Amino acid sequence: MTQTASDPNCFTDVAVIGGGPGGATVSSLLAEKGWRVTLFEKDAFPRFHIGESLLPRNLAIFARLGVLDGIRRIGVPKRGAEFIPHIPNRSTRTFYFSEALKPISPYAFQVPRDGFDRLLLDNARHKGVTVHQPATVDGIELDRAGTHELQVRGEEGDRQLWRCSFLVDASGRDSFLGRRLRWKWKNPRNDMAAIYAHFQDGQRRQGPDEGNISVYWFEQGWLWLIPLPGGVMSVGAVCGMDYLRSRRGSLADFFRETIERCPEARDRLTGAHRIGEIHATGSYSYRSRKSYGHRFLMVGDAYTFLDPVFSSGVLLAMRGGELGAETVDQALRRPRRGWLYLRRHQRQMDRAIGRLAWFVYRFHTPAMRELFSLPGAGEVARDRSNLFRMKAAVISLLGGDFFYPRGIRLPLLLFKGVYYVTAMRYRRAPRS
Ligand SMILES: Cc1cc2nc3c(=O)[nH]c(=O)nc-3n(C[C@H](O)[C@H](O)[C@H](O)COP(=O)(O)OP(=O)(O)OC[C@H]3O[C@@H](n4cnc5c(N)ncnc54)[C@H](O)[C@@H]3O)c2cc1C
Repeated sequence: MTQTASDPNCFTDVAVIGGGPGGATVSSLLAEKGWRVTLFEKDAFPRFHIGESLLPRNLAIFARLGVLDGIRRIGVPKRGAEFIPHIPNRSTRTFYFSEALKPISPYAFQVPRDGFDRLLLDNARHKGVTVHQPATVDGIELDRAGTHELQVRGEEGDRQLWRCSFLVDASGRDSFLGRRLRWKWKNPRNDMAAIYAHFQDGQRRQGPDEGNISVYWFEQGWLWLIPLPGGVMSVGAVCGMDYLRSRRGSLADFFRETIERCPEARDRLTGAHRIGEIHATGSYSYRSRKSYGHRFLMVGDAYTFLDPVFSSGVLLAMRGGELGAETVDQALRRPRRGWLYLRRHQRQMDRAIGRLAWFVYRFHTPAMRELFSLPGAGEVARDRSNLFRMKAAVISLLGGDFFYPRGIRLPLLLFKGVYYVTAMRYRRAPRS
């Protein structure tokens, strides 16, 4: 039966589009504050989703949401990240979270997103969020008679109209509002695409390093190996668009050839077999001109997407959701000051994204490759790059401290100086 906007049952204080980590976090915390929250998720869970490697800073948010034990049960502990260069005379280098300047936790988790997203969304339900799933928001009228009006399509094609006082867009890469408002623009500094799949029985590292993420550089991009529970290995390649356009054969052949560009990764996958489909993501990095408007806010990928080489997307979405819940609560309580709270939220997010983006945009430069693969791996005390605690500060940042830079600013500034000097050396070097 079709319900109409005048139906009092179809009114909610806060409507949230999307039940990924960003949507589940913001809605859980708003329900805890006593607001009526209604979330619409278009997919039935569990479902495949990419974004499996997490950071130590996620742990505090899990604890706040009350899901830390659940995450421990479904995740693989990740003590750090290893970077494997493709240039001769450079060794693999592992960055352990325990070596961070401001250690938060010596480990994070690798999680299968089907179970992870389900756990977070079930937790939101448990906290009082009304979840409609599968339910797609496919139309919107912003600020209609003092409320926003959402058109929602159910699984059977049934339609509902919902009104809300505040709208949170957590629709991920679909960027529901960003597209409709034409605020979304492609980020030319990171014109990449990704192909990825799960494999069964890839070779893992030994002992406590078993759960570490491996990042392999190759000429046209980088490749990840992420160990997941049950002997599953997530494998993906992020490459330049020119390289992807050079594909002639099937996607499966192209993916195999790409893996072969990283001989060690290829060897670790010998004897492993692919499970499930190969996925591809194009139009890769983007951001929205603004993250807010009159009584609406975007969180997570709905607002911006950066290359995930430092496993930052889920933290950006969940921290954005955590800060977003404070923002929406304040904006609803003191509507006349709403703009101030919303603008502050965007500033907080932009600063964190900016700190991280500096590294992401330079990740493919020869200078950054050199700095991430200097000899002397793992031996912090003797490591030249840890002079002035630069390496420890970089590990802090990459563990999630892009939201909490206090105490790491100076060593990071020095690291940037070293980077620019190294980059200049490459610029001057005669090309062979
Ligand atoms: C190739 C690749 C690799 C990545 N690797 C990592 C990694 O290792 N670590 C990491 O932290 N991050 C990684 N990320 C990023 C990570 O996937 C995202 O940043 C994260 O999932 C963002 O969470 P979110 O809640 O904003 O969006 P999502 O998790 O995408 O959730 C959005 C939800 O909204 C729903 N939705 C969309 N439109 C509608 C609608 N109209 N109506 C109702 N529901 C809707 C979708 O079904 C989805 O469930 C990676 C991303 C890519 C592309």
